[in-house]
Amino acid sequence: MKFKTRFLLILLIFAGIFAWRYGVFPQLPQPSAPAISASQTSSESTTSAHVTATPVESIVSGKSLSSTYHYQFQKGLSTANQTLFKQAIAAYNRTGLVKLIAGTSKNGNTLTLGSYSKPMPASAQTFELGHGGPQITETWSALGTSVVNHASAQFNVAYQSRLSVAVAMHELGHALGLDHSTSKTSVMYPVDQGVSQLSAEDLAGLKKIYESKK
Ligand SMILES: [Zn+2]
Repeated sequence: MKFKTRFLLILLIFAGIFAWRYGVFPQLPQPSAPAISASQTSSESTTSAHVTATPVESIVSGKSLSSTYHYQFQKGLSTANQTLFKQAIAAYNRTGLVKLIAGTSKNGNTLTLGSYSKPMPASAQTFELGHGGPQITETWSALGTSVVNHASAQFNVAYQSRLSVAVAMHELGHALGLDHSTSKTSVMYPVDQGVSQLSAEDLAGLKKIYESKK
């Protein structure tokens, strides 16, 4: 009895050492830190929900541009294409960020809407559907610096059947100072996706250029 007890005790000690050494004991649950990781996750998702503004053309960036433009159609622009531009103009006016008015302006921003014909070689992978951009003139005087945009947006009528409000939105976007976007939901995606509605990113880009300027 005495011997047996001692033997069992030694056996238990060895078994205990073995179990401790090789991790046979069930693992205690790790001290959890769910509160910390949860708050990190939520703050990360908040950050990614922020809207990334559509890029702004570098020559427009940081310039104090008036949000009012007077636009004119170039001679020879077809009625159908005028209608496409008018629909795009209405969409930009609905944002309340810019004001595009038919007519001419002596000292303010102007926007010329027209067309040209430039067929691409048969081997071309992409078709140029239009062209548009800002043209910035800065004038220094005793009254200070004035910045004026003489913008233009044009359709390539060599691809008339592919022209749409989406193309007009894109070229007008360039004229107003927006650059290409990597987002397919932006009107400023460089390859026509048929997007004719300004995305939240596009609106954020316009706000960068025109907000609080009249
Ligand atoms: Zn473009």
